[in-house]
Amino acid sequence: MKKILIATGNSHKINEIKLLLQDFPGLKILSLKDFCIKPEITEDKDSLEKNSLKKARETYNILKIPCVSDDTGLFVEALNGAPGVHSARYSGENATYDSNCRKLLYELKDIPAKDRNAYFETVICLYINDNENYFFNGICKGRIINEVRGKYGFGYDPVFVPEGYDRTFAEMTNEEKNNVSHRSAAVKSFAGFLKN
Ligand code: IMP
Repeated sequence: MKKILIATGNSHKINEIKLLLQDFPGLKILSLKDFCIKPEITEDKDSLEKNSLKKARETYNILKIPCVSDDTGLFVEALNGAPGVHSARYSGENATYDSNCRKLLYELKDIPAKDRNAYFETVICLYINDNENYFFNGICKGRIINEVRGKYGFGYDPVFVPEGYDRTFAEMTNEEKNNVSHRSAAVKSFAGFLKN
């Protein structure tokens, strides 16, 4: 049985990833919660790849088991790609999911619906050891609406409507979100790699 550790304490991410990999044969998925540790890792790099590598490497250095990390950003066209790599602390050092969504809605208040295109991108890093690490990415295109809607999910889910839908991610169950999300695309590409 192969063991991998999801290098995050974010229970939303853990649940989404576990659900996606639940039928993967011979794989035991652990998370930081199984070790009761919460390493303080500052996401201070200028790309999703570098941040995901940093999270996976620093966690690997503590636990010495293969680690999978996820770094995600929301890229809004009308804001030249902001909040992007800085999505977590968009509204400041003490940012919350709600304050980030509110700031985003404020920045877009004069932008008409047709120009509110955005996409989520996730980069997953698989850190097997110091010589072997791999990256997988996934994108989900959509738009930012002008209010917060829904009670599921996390982060920017209440303001993001994926292409082809009229509900926000926060109005979808994890299963529905996983059908189209950036994270599921990245995890599927990671699972394809594991199969081989
Ligand atoms: P990180 O990958 O944890 O650094 O996430 C960066 C920011 O994007 C945080 O504010 C997260 O809450 C947000 N975020 C990450 N993944 C998602 C998602 O699937 N939906 C909505 N927001 C997300």
